[in-house]
Order: sequence, then C-alpha cells, then structure tokens
Amino acid sequence: MKCALVTGGSRGIGRAVCIRMASMGYHVLVNYKSNRDEADKTISLIKESGGTSELLPFDVSNKIEIQQKLGGWMEANADKAIEVLVNNAGIKDDVLMMWMKDEQWENVLKTNLDSFFYITRLVVNSMLLKRYGRIINVVSLSGIKGLPGQANYSAAKGGVIAATKALAQEVGRRGITVNAVAPGFITTDMTENIPEKDMKAIIPVNRFGTPEEVAYAVGFLASKEAAYITGEVISVNGGLYT
Ligand code: NAP
Repeated sequence: MKCALVTGGSRGIGRAVCIRMASMGYHVLVNYKSNRDEADKTISLIKESGGTSELLPFDVSNKIEIQQKLGGWMEANADKAIEVLVNNAGIKDDVLMMWMKDEQWENVLKTNLDSFFYITRLVVNSMLLKRYGRIINVVSLSGIKGLPGQANYSAAKGGVIAATKALAQEVGRRGITVNAVAPGFITTDMTENIPEKDMKAIIPVNRFGTPEEVAYAVGFLASKEAAYITGEVISVNGGLYT
C-alpha cells in the first residue's frame, strides 16, 4: 500500500492536500495535534470521494512523540511505504522582535523548522531504501521575503527553504525529490484575523487564495511526472511578491 503522510491534515491547507493525495490514489495518513473533530471531518471527506485514510496524531514540535508515534507506525506497518511526505503543520505567533518572548521564538521554530528535520529524517530513510519519494514542504512568502512581526516565522520558513535545497542535493540520485510550496495569503483559520477586503488591493490577483489552490501545487510536485523538479520553491501567492 502506498501512503502519503500529511502533517496538520485536520484543517486548512493540510485538509485540502489530504483530499488531493487521496484523489491521486494514496492512502492518506492524516496527522494533527489536538483537533480530533476536524481531523475526523478530513477522513469523512476522503471517504466520500472514494479514498482511504487513517488518523496519525502526534505533536510535530515534540521529537520524542515523532519517534514514538510516527516511528511506531512505520515499524508496525513495514508492508506499507510512505511515498509522499507533506510537511504542512505550522503555527505563527506574531509580535515585533523587540517584544518577542523566548517561548514565542522557540515554539514557532520547533513547530515549523525542527519538525521538518525530525519527521523527514525518519521518513527519508525508508524512501532511500525504496529509491523513490516525494517530499513537499509548505513554507511561506514570509520565509522568502521576511515580514515585520514575523522574525520567528520568517526564520523558521526560511530555514526550511534552505534545508529543502540542501536535502534535494543529497537524495536526488535515489529518485527522491524535495521541494517547497510558498503560499501568500490563503483563507484558513490562520488568516481569520487578517481582513481580506483591506489586503486584497496589494495582491495582483485581487483576492486571498484557497487551500485547494495550494493543494494543486503540492499535488503537481508529488506526481511521478515531476521527477526532474527538485530543490525548487513554487510560490502560490496571487502574484504578491514576484
Ligand atoms: P491552520 O488552518 O491554522 O491549520 C494548522 C494545521 O496544523 C492544523 O491541522 C493543526 O492541527 C496543525 N498543527 C499545528 N501545530 C501542530 C503540531 N504541533 N503538531 C501537529 N499538528 C499541528 O493553518 P493553515 O493556514 O492551513 O497553514 C498550513 C501551513 O501553511 C502552515 O505551515 C502555514 O505556516 C503555511 N502557510 C499558511 C498561509 C495562510 O495564509 N494560511 C500562508 C503561508 C504559509 P490541529 O487541528 O490539531 O490544531
């Protein structure tokens, strides 16, 4: 059985990615932290569209939990292969750097950057043995451009972009691609306090994006046919930055 692991699959962009992975024929491992009701909804949506999935909750900011829960799943399911890994789970905690507390820096770095390292290191080993894999990291415009109030988040996402490029060069010979997708403003819980009507004037496409539009780019990079694209960052931002 071929699986796609999507972290933060209970809501927003992650949910749309789960649905797309299922439509590509993958059995989807839906990771989340605490929102079981929303994660169950993702599972139902996949089932309704004819796909299969299962819940795999763990806190991506906790390396011990990653080893226990994800490592445990991999050991118990040696017959199943995680062919696609989408590192999507993320948080932001915005404040100007002069007022940023230690915990705000550490939590955002742990959840967005350390998670990439601990999860990917586990999964890439099995991909290397199978000589096939697709790793897609959901980063942000903030990690390319840097945004005020987001020194922690920009640093974390920028770090993931650099690690994406490094890892791509390490594993390219083994049929594994490593890429990133960088959304701009997407309508999800994360942006619920950002007023679209005020912001859309600065976005060339003149609106926020949808989770499905981000999932489409993730699906493209996850396809077998995207084998010659690696170490790349695709922006999905309505033309905001470029
Ligand atoms: P969201 O709606 O807030 O959903 C966040 C998801 O991440 C939820 O499934 C949540 O699980 C999960 N999550 C958070 N912390 C976790 C942890 N410690 N362990 C496991 N799961 C955790 O966010 P979103 O807008 O879809 O964002 C998804 C990704 O896109 C993030 O990496 C974000 O930085 C990035 N992004 C978003 C935007 C945007 O405009 N929305 C723009 C650029 C980049 P629970 O449901 O259990 O809490």
